[in-house]
Amino acid sequence: MHLIIAEKNIVAERIAAFLAGKEKVQITRDGAAAHYVFDDTVVMGLRGHVVEVDFVEGYNNWRSAEHPPKSLINAEIIKKPTEKKIVGVLQKFAKKATRVTIATDYDTEGELIGKEAFELIRAVNTKVPVDRARFSAITKDEIVKSIQEATSLDFNLAAAGESRQIIDLVWGASLTRFLSITAHRGADSILSVGRVQSPTLAMIVDREREIEAFVPTKYWVLSLTSEKAGIGVEARHVHGRFTDYAEAKAAYDATKEPVKVTDVITGHKVDRAPAPLDTTALIVGASRLGISASYAMNRAEDLYMRGFISYPRTDNTTYPKSLKIGEQLEIFAHGAFTKEAAYVKNHLRSVPTRGKKETTDHPPIYPTSLANREEIGDDVSWKLYEFIVRRFFATICIDAEWETMKINMSAGSEPYTITGGRILEAGWRGIYPYSKAEENILPVFAVGDTLPLLSKNSEEKETQPPARYSQSRLIQRMEELGLGTKSTRHEVISKLSGRKYIEGNPMKPTIVGRAVTESLEEFAGTITEPTMTKTLEEHMTDIAAGTKTINAVLSESRSMLSGIFEDLEKNEAAIGRDLMERTREEQTIGPCPVCGKPLRIKRVGSSQFIGCSGYPDCTFNTGLPPATWGNAIKMDEVCEIHGLNHVQLLRKGAPAWKIGCPLCSHIKSNTDAFLLLPGMTEEGIRKLNAVHIYTISELISRGPEVLAKNLGMSTSAAEKLIREAEGVLALLKKRTELKKFISAHVAPKRGRGHSKVSAAMISMGVTDVEALSRADPASLLEAKLSEAEAASLVAEAKSMVNISRMKEYGVPAITLKKYVNAGFDDPEKFVAVHPAGLSLATGVSVTTICNHQKLVAEKLCRPSPEKISKVAFEEGIAPLRKKADPELLTPLALAGVYSPELLVKADVKTLAKVSGIEEKQIADLQKYAKKVAEK
Ligand SMILES: [Zn+2]
Ligand SMILES: [Zn+2]
Repeated sequence: MHLIIAEKNIVAERIAAFLAGKEKVQITRDGAAAHYVFDDTVVMGLRGHVVEVDFVEGYNNWRSAEHPPKSLINAEIIKKPTEKKIVGVLQKFAKKATRVTIATDYDTEGELIGKEAFELIRAVNTKVPVDRARFSAITKDEIVKSIQEATSLDFNLAAAGESRQIIDLVWGASLTRFLSITAHRGADSILSVGRVQSPTLAMIVDREREIEAFVPTKYWVLSLTSEKAGIGVEARHVHGRFTDYAEAKAAYDATKEPVKVTDVITGHKVDRAPAPLDTTALIVGASRLGISASYAMNRAEDLYMRGFISYPRTDNTTYPKSLKIGEQLEIFAHGAFTKEAAYVKNHLRSVPTRGKKETTDHPPIYPTSLANREEIGDDVSWKLYEFIVRRFFATICIDAEWETMKINMSAGSEPYTITGGRILEAGWRGIYPYSKAEENILPVFAVGDTLPLLSKNSEEKETQPPARYSQSRLIQRMEELGLGTKSTRHEVISKLSGRKYIEGNPMKPTIVGRAVTESLEEFAGTITEPTMTKTLEEHMTDIAAGTKTINAVLSESRSMLSGIFEDLEKNEAAIGRDLMERTREEQTIGPCPVCGKPLRIKRVGSSQFIGCSGYPDCTFNTGLPPATWGNAIKMDEVCEIHGLNHVQLLRKGAPAWKIGCPLCSHIKSNTDAFLLLPGMTEEGIRKLNAVHIYTISELISRGPEVLAKNLGMSTSAAEKLIREAEGVLALLKKRTELKKFISAHVAPKRGRGHSKVSAAMISMGVTDVEALSRADPASLLEAKLSEAEAASLVAEAKSMVNISRMKEYGVPAITLKKYVNAGFDDPEKFVAVHPAGLSLATGVSVTTICNHQKLVAEKLCRPSPEKISKVAFEEGIAPLRKKADPELLTPLALAGVYSPELLVKADVKTLAKVSGIEEKQIADLQKYAKKVAEK
């Protein structure tokens, strides 16, 4: 059996379809792992890496004294399966296979994934021949050919990938642990450090410092307007920028008529068609289309796997000879690009353009098959596909040609110039709208022409600071410095933003990002410099070339890292202090409205709030939604009223929740409560806020004397206000209870959330659970409850109210539970029932019951029910127990009959009615009771 292993399931499915024809393939799904069978062949997909590298056991505990961060440098590394199901399926087939073909992606990562599969195969089958198919596009021709011409795995290339995995694990884990522990960071705010990540972050921080240090200088540019043959023209002063105002002024003053044409120079310019696309150029192009680097790569990979484009991770900018340009163009003779393809055919260049790099692994990125919009699906993928198609067209189109014109002139003593251009041959520009070149067609000038001076202008400008890095610019810069690879650069940027080290695009560092960088620069600068990373990167390439061994490079990396740790450990205390000092600012949002000390975002477990750094002297604080809704983060915006930074909650996989100014939001959320005070107005609330009363409880705790002084009112008026506030507080408490009750008892439905139901009830006057217990269920239908729901809700509320009344009356919780279980939660019913029956129903002793009944009866202002002694009860019930069915005893006792004597006295008919026992049964029992009584 021939086993073919692809990197992903979707590729496996396509490979099987190409080799067998779709109808012939049998699909078997085994949980996460599908495989495709035809003839004597099985094709299966991995999920990228199915094993991962990790430290041997014992290194997981960050606080371990035995294994400090430094010990990770030389800790043993092992491989662990991450996709056990897939590994299981792979090994099941590997045992039976007579040939295995590895058809993972054709790059370092793919080679490593292939080698991982190889090792799993060898573990169960030492003999089966394993070969390697390499392809750059998932099209039928490429796939069939690559499997026919399969060669062997490149173990050097895989080792290069493996060395990167291990080095990144060791560097990242040891440095991140060291820094996070040193700076006393919690588990949700670790400070991550990485070999590629840290120098990249340093570039962004560096640029920010340049921007801050930038001092703009003024300069002036001069221009004049004139006309020729009725066409307006603008000429600029040949000097360019004047940095000296006096000079600019002198030149401006000297600009005067006559304006005379001194030179007319026409030329010819070739505007070269762009080079084929590599990964970096793809990212740059995507960024012009408004697509972020990592999203562009994600979409490009999807297009590749679906067979629409060639492999998007490539450094090559030269098409291989084997690529048949004519055939590729023919693909587009029909479909969305028919017109453009025809144009290209008419403007075909003899040889496609070529860039500076030529590698032999992959071709540059080009479209491999025709697609229409529907097939492609989302807008972003389509934009990207169209860009790749048009770029391919441009690279095989003739150059554009321009006629250029330069008109020199003098205005008084001052030299001016105009440049213009006209397209002679549009060439590639006819189908490539992504880089525009504007024509500027000038009227015909001749040397010696005298022109009117319509106006002269001196414009004052300022030099601009360097621009922040855009993602694509940063990726280009990383490539120049040898940081990361074509496959990892965009991931590094995503990581930096995921760790909240950078924000925005163009990117700027956050407070933490800057703090980490500056602290490292000060104490262990080599981590933030690109040199070491670049060296390692080059040596990994040497492993692939076979000129260095993986062990040599790993031990070189370990000694570099040991050197770094020497610096770090020497400065441990200083780094900790420095980082804490630098990051404190990230939590500080502005002055406390009460005492003026800094307010900080604080976190205790999952609850977070804004508190005053003057605590406990100042107790000002405002709540924030719990961290489960997202971590509270300070924003740049500042509230104009309170001078506090806005706050937002960062949620995983959802847009940020903007709280805004925490004090404004605090005031707003307490407005409704204040308005419940009799006669309270918005103006009144402002007065309270002005003396730092933001909540009802703050109003109460102020006390009548201070409040009177604060608000300029009499003490008695302040007392009244406080009493009213206490009333509101009680009301709010009850509302909260009602809301809790509703969310516990009403199932949420679409369009009927808990808060909607509560709000509807409150608006109809049902403001607490007590009112709900008295409500007519029919009236609750307005709150979108069904009849059954309303009835059960009222019953639940009644029971809750009853229980809390019984508690209030002094019935202890444990016994109360027994009463409730037996159905006696209603105080009225409880005092009316006979203690003997209640004792039998609940197992509580009669004495206790009598005491409780007395307690409740007093509270209800009712006479206490009949009291019976424990002895009387037990002596009475004992003979009845001997004869009567135990199930009959409770109803009898509830009706007040608990002894033979009482039974003899009872009227059979009445007792049957009250107890629900059949007359005949009672009569039989009575006969027995008579005998007992006679004795
Ligand atoms: Zn304060
Ligand atoms: Zn505010």
